[in-house]
Amino acid sequence: MAKQTMEELRGAVRGQIIARGDAEYDTARKVYNGMIDKHPKVIVRATDAADVMATVAYSSQNGRILSVRGGAHSVPGFGTNDDGVVIDLSRMKGIRVDPAARTVRAEGGVTWGDLFHATYPFGLTTPGGIISTTGIGGLTLGGGIGHLSRGLGLSIDNLLSADVVTADGRFLTASEKENPDLFWALRGGGGNFGVVTSFEYRLHPVKDVLVALVFFELSAARQVLEFYRQYIATAPEEMGAFFGYHLAPPLPFIPEKRHGEPFCVLVACWAGPMEKGEQAMQPIRKAGAVAAELVTPMPFPALNSLFDALLPPGLQHYWKAAFASEITDGAIAAHVAHGPKIPTVNSAMHIYPINGACNRVRADATAFAYRDARFAVNVAGMWPDPKDNQKNIKWVKDYYAALEPHSSRGGYVNFMADDDPGRVKESYKGNYDRLVSIKKKYDPENLFHINQNIKPS
Ligand SMILES: Cc1cc2nc3c(=O)[nH]c(=O)nc-3n(C[C@H](O)[C@H](O)[C@H](O)COP(=O)(O)OP(=O)(O)OC[C@H]3O[C@@H](n4cnc5c(N)ncnc54)[C@H](O)[C@@H]3O)c2cc1C
Repeated sequence: MAKQTMEELRGAVRGQIIARGDAEYDTARKVYNGMIDKHPKVIVRATDAADVMATVAYSSQNGRILSVRGGAHSVPGFGTNDDGVVIDLSRMKGIRVDPAARTVRAEGGVTWGDLFHATYPFGLTTPGGIISTTGIGGLTLGGGIGHLSRGLGLSIDNLLSADVVTADGRFLTASEKENPDLFWALRGGGGNFGVVTSFEYRLHPVKDVLVALVFFELSAARQVLEFYRQYIATAPEEMGAFFGYHLAPPLPFIPEKRHGEPFCVLVACWAGPMEKGEQAMQPIRKAGAVAAELVTPMPFPALNSLFDALLPPGLQHYWKAAFASEITDGAIAAHVAHGPKIPTVNSAMHIYPINGACNRVRADATAFAYRDARFAVNVAGMWPDPKDNQKNIKWVKDYYAALEPHSSRGGYVNFMADDDPGRVKESYKGNYDRLVSIKKKYDPENLFHINQNIKPS
């Protein structure tokens, strides 16, 4: 096949093509993690599937490295590269809600803030990320954990179909009925199998939720963790509640003199009938000595953007993640030792519950293999100043090392760093070999390799 020239690519693409030397190049090459400083040859801001098909063809014919970017939140910076091509989907923002069928179709550049905004007036939503600026693309393809997951499953458990441009430039629909092997692999296998130009999700009747942010004294941390592991095992599934460590941000309900102090926190989202919410929150509010709390109803999209101000683009990010089936006494000891050392107000350690609906899906029903995990644990270092890199990375590594003996071997691919590649295989457990064979079928040359990579051989 003749190689396409850059001029031919410019002729084929309706969106914006940005190359080195262009005025917007330095803005366009940036991703969310400020630590990533890469210089691609060309960035294509696609407007539709045709632009994506042309750019995939250009990349594969020219042997170019190819990155795909939706919300650009990948912590290892998979949405960019040096000297290759970037397909930036952020202009593909189309969303269509079908309230009668309770479905939504959203293009690859949509963020969770965009999606929840569009479905809210219909009193409908679907499980997605906890921060509004994260893209639906990367988050869904890796699994998708959020406030509603205990009751409604992962994002992939609500994915009905996806439009995909594969490495050979074909446009395919993947669903239970069409290309079911591709559909299976997309649900957890990350960006390994093609560029998803649009996602179709099932919607559920959730509109306003009752939210509790409870900051506990550090002296109560052990007690709160012991409460949490028991409580979340049997709590009604309308309750999404995660445990965390945070430095108190300057929020009005926290006494000013305590801003910047470390606390352990429970963040709860009740998505059941509002009249039952107050009662449902009671055990959480009594889990230990409370230093400050906010309990209030709010629209689900408001909860989704509540923490956005703490996480502007451009922070330095270094994260490590694990799954756990239990919060063991050993894990609690590790949390109590390392959580209070949290170095910055942007950083967090979170334990997300993925029991309930997430556990009811068979381990081999989708690529996401850890259906026996009840918790996804994330040590997320996030800080503004590169001068503090060493201190923050050390906190993440030390904390993770202490948790490792109490965790499953694999981790959630969307929370993982890219400095332990052996963990990709571990994270897919018994599904890995099937993923390799589907990769061989749809991307035998491994065009899509800037990701938590599943190699075709
Ligand atoms: C602040 C923050 C909050 C987060 N919160 C959550 C959370 O609540 N729950 C959770 O599960 N995860 C969460 N994550 C992790 C998140 O799932 C991953 O970072 C994910 O990769 C983000 O998706 P994105 O589209 O924004 O990223 P991008 O950097 O745009 O994409 C990451 C990778 O995903 C693939 N990809 C993205 N879009 C497509 C597409 N349309 N087609 C094919 N491949 C694609 C590509 O390989 C790409 O390199 C969070 C991350 C951050 C930084």
